[in-house]
Amino acid sequence: YSNNETVLFLDGKFVKANESTTDLYSQTLHYGYGAFEGIRSYETKNGTKVFKAEEHYERLKKSCELVKIPFDCTVQELVQATYELLEKNNLKNAYIRPLVYCGQNMSLSKPTRVSVMIAAWDWGAYLGEKLLRLTVSSYCRPHPKSIHIEAKVCGHYVNSILATNEAKDNGFDEALLLDSDGFLAEGPGANLFFEKDGKLFTPQLGNILPGITRATVLELAEQLGLELHQGKFTREDLFQADSAFYCGTAAEVVGILSVDTYQFPKNWNDSLGKKLQDAYSLLVREPLKQLNLN
Ligand code: PMP
Repeated sequence: YSNNETVLFLDGKFVKANESTTDLYSQTLHYGYGAFEGIRSYETKNGTKVFKAEEHYERLKKSCELVKIPFDCTVQELVQATYELLEKNNLKNAYIRPLVYCGQNMSLSKPTRVSVMIAAWDWGAYLGEKLLRLTVSSYCRPHPKSIHIEAKVCGHYVNSILATNEAKDNGFDEALLLDSDGFLAEGPGANLFFEKDGKLFTPQLGNILPGITRATVLELAEQLGLELHQGKFTREDLFQADSAFYCGTAAEVVGILSVDTYQFPKNWNDSLGKKLQDAYSLLVREPLKQLNLN
């Protein structure tokens, strides 16, 4: 992720990554009490563009507000800092990782000091390009009454790590998590969509992270005139679907081959997912171009 030249943004300054230190008594390190984002930039005809930068920093701000971590900077400042960071590191197609973390405090009380760090690096497709073989996880997503599921909080990701490792240990590419009532929820770091009879379905908000890519896919689907349903769906609904895909900033849009022993019957190249994958790929690279989706 970094080399001798890598620069980070830290509390309003640009600093060398290999000269930066962190406090071992940090409340974030001990308790997972921090918030983060995952953003991508793309090389476009009009220079490097950070895709949905404002939306990501707004979500970071909201995540902090929900868990009561003071967030003292403005979205605009952070967007500006991100562009400067990319330039200083000569990055165009990059993955950007803002992290709000807390200083020394070994109690469970309010944070003493809060820092904002932004790192960026070159990162290919997070889940690869091939179709994914999923397994339904034995772990469910955290109950929304235990945590703020709509916030991207560091500690929540232990659930994602457990599910990912379980899936990989069992020979699958990735996990699919249900919510605590047994309905389809999401992947460890991506939202789920599936196709049935030419219609598109996705779990409703409430038990999932409200993905920015999910929102973009919903917009693209509307532009394509697709029939869309957001709701509570079961594993059995998925096991009757024609095709399915995951979407997220890091993963972008990636097709799913199978879930446990069920293989989706539709050829990926003929699926709605493929159409949306192409539309997404065009949108992030040519944000100003009028989309011609047909
Ligand atoms: N769900 C979870 C649990 C995630 O971590 C992510 C990645 N942030 C997503 C969904 C997709 O969100 P986004 O499209 O905003 O990256």
